[in-house]
Amino acid sequence: MDEIIYEDAEQKTEVEIPEKLVFGKIFTDHIFEMDYNTEKGWHNPTIKKYGNFSMSPAAMVLHYGQAIFEGLKAYKHSDGKIALFRPEKNFERLNRSARRLCIPEIDIEFALKALKKLIKLEQNWIPTKPGHSLYIRPLIFANDPYIGVKPSDTYKFIIMLSPVGPYYPEGFKPVPILVTDKYMRAVRKGVGDCKTAGNYAASLLAQREAKKEGYTQVLWLDAIEQKYIEEVGTMNIFIRFKDEIATPMLTGSILPGVTRMSVLEILKDWGMNINERMISIDEVSEAYKNNSLVEIFGTGTAAIISSVSKLKFNDTIMQFDENNAGELGTKLYEEILGIQYGTKEDKFGWMQFID
Ligand SMILES: *Cc1c(COP(=O)(O)O)cnc(C)c1O
Repeated sequence: MDEIIYEDAEQKTEVEIPEKLVFGKIFTDHIFEMDYNTEKGWHNPTIKKYGNFSMSPAAMVLHYGQAIFEGLKAYKHSDGKIALFRPEKNFERLNRSARRLCIPEIDIEFALKALKKLIKLEQNWIPTKPGHSLYIRPLIFANDPYIGVKPSDTYKFIIMLSPVGPYYPEGFKPVPILVTDKYMRAVRKGVGDCKTAGNYAASLLAQREAKKEGYTQVLWLDAIEQKYIEEVGTMNIFIRFKDEIATPMLTGSILPGVTRMSVLEILKDWGMNINERMISIDEVSEAYKNNSLVEIFGTGTAAIISSVSKLKFNDTIMQFDENNAGELGTKLYEEILGIQYGTKEDKFGWMQFID
């Protein structure tokens, strides 16, 4: 791979980060960009000024959605060190998504190197207040100016950065979730286990209807039997029964979260009884009725852990503590947050540092 070119890339030392950070609205001064074509493969790796693209109205991504992305974060520790949480997992998943969407894979080592160089240049953009971080968005999209349906011959890979505040500015608060069987998110052997653009477009209507009913997110059911719980919006889901912690097994229609994987590893280390298995919504509501359902929480990069205050499925409402997050969810939240911000021992060796 070519050396990374710095094009008009000068570090800003005086950076103005707004007091109140709304997720995903402001971006740092530079992006990483590289191109793909069939002759050269991935080439022209460049760190350049953030700005608009010029692209053909026929660019294939706009018509057929051949696009994949990732989401991870960089944290500034109190000693000034910059840390990333398991970034190789995100690039491995990007390549998995790439294979499914007929997108050429990237060199993970090189992408990690490029990411670290970009963050180093933009380090003054990493907010240092508690719970703040730099959100990282890698993206690959099809760029052929052609409106026939086929895999594109040209692509762009970019990494953009956005400073973000804590997911729960008023403290770790549980959220109400609606289980829907009106719409389905993904089907086994489809693309539900890929972070690809169309999955999110397809989820918007259900999200909108849930919001109207006063619910923050939708919990999806499997599309075949329409009774097994799968995941929540952009989070995986965990159910804590009296004697077991269960999470839906990865059947192919669920996005394999890095946070999910990390939570499973921590729970195993804590010696808890964990199972990745099929969990029907009926099993969950039965457990609620006979008092063997302890807590429910979601896992994802943005919030780490989201405790569930209420779960509604048709006429059944499962009500949990509205003001306080569940015990295990809170413990996991503090553990992972501590590892990410360097206040707890990183015994699994998850963090990577930028020097
Ligand atoms: C990104 C995402 C998740 C969570 O994955 P993490 O790697 O933990 O952030 C879960 N479900 C969906 C649909 C997602 O897009």
